[in-house]
Amino acid sequence: MAPWLLAQHEDRIIQNDDEEWSAEGTDAHNRAEAYLKAYVAGENPEAPTDELKVYTDYVTSTYDVWKEDDAMLLVEQKAPLPHDQDYLGTVDAAIVTDDRLHIIDLKWGQGVNVSPTFNSQTAIYARAFYDSLTAVGLGVEMDSTDMMLITIVQPRYRGDNPVKTWSITFQEMMDYTDLLVSKAELIYEKKNLRFNPSDSTCQFCDARPWCTAYNGWALENLPTMEGAIPAIEDETLVDLYLNRKKMVKWINNLEKHVTKSVSEGGYLSKYLGFAPGKRKGNTTWEEMTERSFVTRLRKLFPFIKREELYKEIRLSPTQVRGQLLDAEQSALIDDLTFRPDPKPTIVPISEVPPPDEEVTDLLA
Ligand code: SF4
Repeated sequence: MAPWLLAQHEDRIIQNDDEEWSAEGTDAHNRAEAYLKAYVAGENPEAPTDELKVYTDYVTSTYDVWKEDDAMLLVEQKAPLPHDQDYLGTVDAAIVTDDRLHIIDLKWGQGVNVSPTFNSQTAIYARAFYDSLTAVGLGVEMDSTDMMLITIVQPRYRGDNPVKTWSITFQEMMDYTDLLVSKAELIYEKKNLRFNPSDSTCQFCDARPWCTAYNGWALENLPTMEGAIPAIEDETLVDLYLNRKKMVKWINNLEKHVTKSVSEGGYLSKYLGFAPGKRKGNTTWEEMTERSFVTRLRKLFPFIKREELYKEIRLSPTQVRGQLLDAEQSALIDDLTFRPDPKPTIVPISEVPPPDEEVTDLLA
């Protein structure tokens, strides 16, 4: 690799973004766990940060309602997975009564919206938790038609309501997770299976760097070519254009793999001339709520306005509409919104209006 390319990649090789994100997620889960356990114990825990509060408030307010029915709030419960008892799934919070079950999962990611509906991970963790309760004689007695709830709280995702709930009957949950377990068993036994990679299937799979099916799929349209882009044949160019996103993802996977290898002192280090190291991060603020942050700073520097210290981000009309109850409420914000004039871009040919008739006549 050319020296200037090395320099360009230096920062990224020293700093493993994935690890940083997962460390942040672990930290958020730890803080939420400590808060909720203190809350259940009747202590007065210190308020979490605004983002984490979205999750803890949801859990505690739901628990407070269910408490009338002698509900238990169980936090960070680990349970062996039904298809492989060697692995444990963790339920972040579960509110349990004799005949009701509400599983709540905290997702700390902000880039990808995670829905609880037919979410195999949260469903299988819920099933693992239910099975483990039954195993210790704390079985929740649910009829097949009783509803159970699986909620994902994703406080940092800005594009939608951060709290999403999937209501299913107990029987539907059992059927869905039975199906997942039988699929997992088939994979273990490798029975007539064909890997079927796709963006959504492989999005979070750690096997991507090694999976031949995934790599073959991502690069299936990559031609061997020489020369400049305009010299590529039209058909090839179209294929490349249509498949550009998955090739970019493949490159990103390659970068992650190389970064990981180097940060672990792996064999690639010697070719790249890098080694695992540490660099000081940027100065950041101590842990405190947004309100106390603004108050403390303004006490020190009254001449700085609140909005110069802390930015509130306005949600888009679509995001606000997502929080409204019905079309009638949605219509109330129509007057506050407008659609800017169209800007030139690429659109499907079917969207291009026919040429102006008068002009066509004149030319005829
Ligand atoms: S990367 Fe391979 S193993 Fe992982 S989900 Fe995709 S096809 Fe399956």
